[in-house]
Amino acid sequence: MRDMSPADLRKRRRKLLGGLPPLESIMRGSLVERYKRCGRPGCHCANDRGHGPKCYLSVSVTGQRPQMDYVPNASLALVSEYLANFHKLREVLNEICAINTELLRRREELD
Ligand SMILES: [Zn+2]
Repeated sequence: MRDMSPADLRKRRRKLLGGLPPLESIMRGSLVERYKRCGRPGCHCANDRGHGPKCYLSVSVTGQRPQMDYVPNASLALVSEYLANFHKLREVLNEICAINTELLRRREELD
């Protein structure tokens, strides 16, 4: 970034914006597989590892246990895509912020 001209930095910034995922299609967290015991009396799962594996969305919440939400198989592909979109979005935001900080350091026009 240091050897890019201010014009190149602004061009890069604009290009990054064009590559943003749709903002409504994002989800934070990660997918995990879990086995669960159903608790029904006499069910075989009481004596083994449980039913599953089933997919859950695990979302970390500061100072709390991660929030776990069941992800039906039918939603799995879309949830994966939304999670990837969130990562992409965060990368793009970080790079735009870095470009703007670089412009500020060089005392260049920000826009
Ligand atoms: Zn069971």
